[in-house]
Amino acid sequence: MIIMKFGGTSVGSAERIRNTAKIVKSNAKKRPVVVVSAVAKMTDALIMLANECREGKGNSALEHIKKIHYGILGQLGLNNELLEHDMAELENLASKSKNKKSDSRLLDCFQSFGERMSSKIVAAQLNKIGVKARAFDSWDLGFLTNSEFGNAEPLEASHARIKNSIRKLDAVPVITGFIGKTENGEITTLGRGGSDYTAAIIGAAVDADEIQIWTDVDGIMSTDPRIVKNAKTLDKISFAEASELAYFGAKVLHPKTILPAMDKGIPVRVLNSFNPKNKGTTILKKSGKNHRAVKAIACKKNVTRINVDSKRMLGAYGFLARLFDVFAEHKRSVDVVSTSEVSVSLTIDGNGNLEPILGKLKDIANIDMAKNKAIICVVGENMRQIPGIAGITFSTLGKDGINVEMISQGASQINITFIVDGKDAEKAVKVLHREYFG
Ligand code: ASP
Repeated sequence: MIIMKFGGTSVGSAERIRNTAKIVKSNAKKRPVVVVSAVAKMTDALIMLANECREGKGNSALEHIKKIHYGILGQLGLNNELLEHDMAELENLASKSKNKKSDSRLLDCFQSFGERMSSKIVAAQLNKIGVKARAFDSWDLGFLTNSEFGNAEPLEASHARIKNSIRKLDAVPVITGFIGKTENGEITTLGRGGSDYTAAIIGAAVDADEIQIWTDVDGIMSTDPRIVKNAKTLDKISFAEASELAYFGAKVLHPKTILPAMDKGIPVRVLNSFNPKNKGTTILKKSGKNHRAVKAIACKKNVTRINVDSKRMLGAYGFLARLFDVFAEHKRSVDVVSTSEVSVSLTIDGNGNLEPILGKLKDIANIDMAKNKAIICVVGENMRQIPGIAGITFSTLGKDGINVEMISQGASQINITFIVDGKDAEKAVKVLHREYFG
């Protein structure tokens, strides 16, 4: 059994849905379980509808949502009846919500319609081309969550239920991604981009052979192709490598969303529905022996570097705890840290709203802050065994006159992370990519 998850662009128009259905058909022997996102940009449109309703409006947003869906149905030769029930329910929800305060519970309810409708269209198209398929709202197959609206987590009990329900089916299920229900029957969402998470949870529940994430790019790249034109698609990458890359700015799957698959050792493949022949990138628990020491280079701009210097740190205990407490109190996550006996350098995301933090830090140490810095992260599992990568990395930057301000290597030793000035960021990525990938 395989899970095939299609993102918004893969179901974004009649033509894309036709293409998606063909891809599913060509995998029919592998017993596909399909998970879909809403039609591209539909989740945003539904949020806009909810916001407009709060202000007593909403008609134009509703018209837009109808136009997009009915347009797709028309072009696919499918009857509007397919979505009539959902549209009526959405219309009813919109009119009931006029001039009412909205909260995340209500917002989740609005958003759910995107996936509820796209799943029906994809299932209908599959039937049309001779693949017996049936649309399911995830909860109908046992996908239950806690009641953290907007960021819900699946309940442990979901696994066995999902497995049981899917085993009994005699048609290809087309399941709503992103949404679930609490035990009390209230609709929840798993957070933006949550359909990948749905796919991984279902994949883990049914012990799938593979989880395919169909998107609009060829896979995970060696670096940002907007910076380096000849960035390469990576064949295989480990979960740990993907996590480092995602954290430091690469546009890859969010690692949290595929964790259930990794826990069970199920490979996750990122594929391009616009270029289905390309074999994409496979994310595995371990990427295996590969002679390349450096797999990818990520870059995250607009970070702030803070140097904290205090003689009181020397031989003292509890200083670092106090320091990081300041960031915790202000709910700011610290990304890169590097420390000596008397000083700590760290970075936080963004350049704004720092005054309250700096005020508190000044009470305990001398502070030096610089905005508009960039984090560069060189990632590769084989770096652990291959000597000299740090030497090559920093001498390459030195030769090109790029100043490195702070260096850090995590305990996993699969990355070398450092900070450069924002204006040098792209150049740093380019020269390193040239050095490691040619
Ligand atoms: N439709 C949802 C979103 O736009 C979830 C997803 O596509 O994964 O975030």
